[in-house]
Amino acid sequence: MIVVLKPGVTEAAVEEVLVEIKKMGLTPHVLTGTERTVIAVVGDERALQKKPLAALPGVEEALPILSPYKLVSRECKPKDTVLDVGGVKIGGGKVVVMAGPCSVETEERLLSIAQDVKGAGASILRGGAFKPRTSPYAFQGLGEEGLAYLAEAKKKTGLPIITEIMDPRDMPLMMKYADIVQIGARNMQNFRLLSEVGSYSKPVMLKRGLSATIKEFLLSAEYILAAGNQQVILCERGIRTFETMTRNTLDLSAIPVIRRLSHLPIIVDPSHAVGKTDLVAPMAMAAVAAGADGLMIEVHSHPSEAYCDGEQALLPTQFKTLMTQLKRIAQACDRDM
Ligand code: PEP
Ligand code: MN
Repeated sequence: MIVVLKPGVTEAAVEEVLVEIKKMGLTPHVLTGTERTVIAVVGDERALQKKPLAALPGVEEALPILSPYKLVSRECKPKDTVLDVGGVKIGGGKVVVMAGPCSVETEERLLSIAQDVKGAGASILRGGAFKPRTSPYAFQGLGEEGLAYLAEAKKKTGLPIITEIMDPRDMPLMMKYADIVQIGARNMQNFRLLSEVGSYSKPVMLKRGLSATIKEFLLSAEYILAAGNQQVILCERGIRTFETMTRNTLDLSAIPVIRRLSHLPIIVDPSHAVGKTDLVAPMAMAAVAAGADGLMIEVHSHPSEAYCDGEQALLPTQFKTLMTQLKRIAQACDRDM
């Protein structure tokens, strides 16, 4: 339910509405706009049948939210959500590029990649310290040591960092080191993790699950918003299909669909979608043309020696060339980059 308050409503009247909502066992989320304040009400809406909120003095109208995802929907918030991550704006149509190695390996290597991606125009550094690996015998990431290397690279380059969380118990570490916490495809429906991350005030990037529909994807994002954290970025990273020529199939149509259904920024990770270096650039360009708010791209200085995902990493020189091409695509589409 969306409760639209009257223009110029007093604080006391807003408080009265909030008290009534809570009394019914529902959760209010106040969304303060430039002209109007609206309250998104979530929970078991059967309680609303007994006491209609529209009857309260401060309320202009109370409208049902028809989509199953409430706080994530454009019905609830028509304007694009724009996050500010250390001065980098994400959302609202500007193209933001996050780049870096799949996993943090050594401090020197991370720093050299960070400097290269920054030089090419990336504005956020990626790197995994906790890696979700299919095999328990594969490299699992450096843990806190890796986070410390990321912090060092951030200090030297000024790039904010994004890194993956796999266990809710690691959230205090993330608060210390990360600017954006990534929830990977394999954990998209780890609901305890979603709620835990949602209870902190820290930007989150949620990746689409390997076999998740867009509806399931948006409902997972709803868990984070429902727990109180509105700073969410969605990431399309390819889904599993019958095709074997690529690692996954990049669902480019998810971009305009999500832009229509949700106010949250949607970015694209072409690297994990295609799984092969030579296919990354065409999909990155197509994503920008299709309206993505940004890209996440894996870059490595020595792909053949990478601990993980070397076969899809771009060399810094390839990344630099791609960034030039992307700027031209963005310009042709009247977008800022
Ligand atoms: C990653 O970005 O490091 C990653 C593991 O991606 P995904 O969760 O999309 O597979
Ligand atoms: Mn990877």
